[in-house]
Amino acid sequence: MNAGERIAYVGGAFVPEATATVSILDHAVLYGDGVFETVVAWQGRIFRLDDHVRRFLRSCMAVALDCPVTEDRLKDLVMTTVRRNGLQDAYIKWILTRGSNGTPLMDPTGCVPNLIIMARPYIDRSSPTGLRVKTVAIRRPPGHVLDAHVKSLNYLNLVMAKIEARAAAVDQALMLDVRGRLCEAPGFNVFVVTDEVVRTPRHDVLRGITRETTMHLAAELGYQAYESELELYDAYTADEMFLTSTAGGLVPVVEVDGRTVGDGEPGPVLSALQNAYREALSSARWSTPIG
Ligand code: PMP
Repeated sequence: MNAGERIAYVGGAFVPEATATVSILDHAVLYGDGVFETVVAWQGRIFRLDDHVRRFLRSCMAVALDCPVTEDRLKDLVMTTVRRNGLQDAYIKWILTRGSNGTPLMDPTGCVPNLIIMARPYIDRSSPTGLRVKTVAIRRPPGHVLDAHVKSLNYLNLVMAKIEARAAAVDQALMLDVRGRLCEAPGFNVFVVTDEVVRTPRHDVLRGITRETTMHLAAELGYQAYESELELYDAYTADEMFLTSTAGGLVPVVEVDGRTVGDGEPGPVLSALQNAYREALSSARWSTPIG
């Protein structure tokens, strides 16, 4: 391997990322069948790795996928991937595909799951001035159709939303469920702040690690913070609104469906939460050193 070459883990071995391959018979390729996690390393520490691993194992359980390595081995492999790529600030993704059973048929019998891990320099997805978002026609499916709690490779619903937002020349899509309640944005949870009360949708959303961190920090800062059934009204009348994700942190929203949120600038509650989040990211409290 050449110095400076990106390294990925696939099929049980570390290989140059450029030569890392997956079978065309892998059910991830054929059917979007698999689960994944995204974590970040910041100043040599991975944020809430244990919580991401736990959510990952729950995703595996929910879709009846056996993780081929133990929890400790998985953490070790993730850390090793970051180290081998010489990164301190990193965007890290691991994927468990259903694998292949040698046929292109949907029956998963005999499939051998394949763990893939990749790491690259931190990708900054923050937006200091804030996003313009739009509710889109496509809805988040209910849990009995495609469960949003599962971080699965089946993201077409979210990709469709992004395409719709792009066609409307806004920054991001805001997604509702089939009953019209606020859910999330593609790859992000959603928060509204009204009279300094912080609320986030309860149903048909991924239980985001950043969402949970935000709720925790909000409570620590003395704000009321809770999950709720939220409707468009709550977005249209919010004093502040923001999105959360591991890769993006807390991202302000300044416009929803052509309505300015608050005074059109990221607000004071978000600012307090962002400061607390930045501190949490590099503190020993929630992060694991890469070693
Ligand atoms: N919702 C969806 C659909 C996601 O894919 C993600 C992660 N990219 C999130 C919310 C945010 O979750 P987390 O804070 O754990 O990154």
